[in-house]
Amino acid sequence: MEVRELTGPRATTSLASRHSPLASTREQLQALRRLELKEFPVRLRPAALEIFQINVGKLCNMTCRHCHVDAGPDRTAEMMSRETVEACLAALDRTRAKTVDITGGAPELNPHFRYLVDACIERDKHVMDRCNLTVLLTGPCRDLPEWFAARGVEIVCSLPHYRKRNTDIQRGDGTFEKSIEALRRLNAAGYGQGNPRRRLTLMHNPVGAFLAGDQPSMEREWKEGLAANHGVTFDALIALNNMPISRFLEWLQSSGNLERYMEVLVNAYNPATVQGLMCRNTLSIGWDGRIYDCDFNQMLELDARYADGRAAHIRDFDPARLAARSIVTARHCFGCTAGAGSSCGGAIA
Ligand code: SF4
Ligand code: SF4
Repeated sequence: MEVRELTGPRATTSLASRHSPLASTREQLQALRRLELKEFPVRLRPAALEIFQINVGKLCNMTCRHCHVDAGPDRTAEMMSRETVEACLAALDRTRAKTVDITGGAPELNPHFRYLVDACIERDKHVMDRCNLTVLLTGPCRDLPEWFAARGVEIVCSLPHYRKRNTDIQRGDGTFEKSIEALRRLNAAGYGQGNPRRRLTLMHNPVGAFLAGDQPSMEREWKEGLAANHGVTFDALIALNNMPISRFLEWLQSSGNLERYMEVLVNAYNPATVQGLMCRNTLSIGWDGRIYDCDFNQMLELDARYADGRAAHIRDFDPARLAARSIVTARHCFGCTAGAGSSCGGAIA
């Protein structure tokens, strides 16, 4: 079977609202377990904690095909409360993490988002917002480029490709035009022009069942393409492999690409990526306060566990005991170690 690009109709609702069997994380893990593949080969242990990642909910104004969160406009129930935000801040104060990485869904749609950003800035943290770009055109978020700029928030934006067709296939018709408009607004607010307090990073996912390309050469190509065709600039591009979970897993299964894609990931296993895996220097907090090794484990509900087997939660945060944990791994982890590797910061090796 040929490895193929994303094809077929794009679902406009989440797996959860369609009552898909894959809405069950157990079913997702079993779909990967059923394949005849070797197991993920290394045991991972945490290094020093550098990044506190907070996922404030699954609500999103979009329903992208590759979404590992199963986010969408229908995910209104999974929203971090003010109480959990406060618990996150209290936990953050007990760590030496320098960076707070705020994600979702579209994190900007959480009503406590601005409070959380300001509270982290007050603590002298480097704040990153994982932004889907189009949300910046929606009513309550239209002032965010200037608001972010005043606080030095780094914006990490998903844009699957610098060409319209590839972006719209993955994220829906009209997404590319809206993304370019949002990038123009960020540029107008001073982002993407080499100022470290206005850092604009683009994030690429392959538009199909293949690995991300070479990050430095893609960055050059994208900078030229976006500047020449749209007059838009950015600071850096990071390239992530698509994770074989959630809605991308649904497409892999329905298009007959699952086995082949997993073989691609397993055969491209690169031991040089292990040292830099994000689960080693990050803790990922879910909207309900549960703690995970990374955002992918969060979406598979593979909780970080203390040595006694108890699932970690932000209300009883214990950094010393978390530092002594083993990281939970399974076959989806091959998505992080394939080729040049893939983490929240892009290629690793
Ligand atoms: S990939 Fe991002 S923008 Fe797309 S549905 Fe998921 S959270 Fe929303
Ligand atoms: S999915 Fe990636 S980041 Fe998460 S535990 Fe596995 S290897 Fe680590």
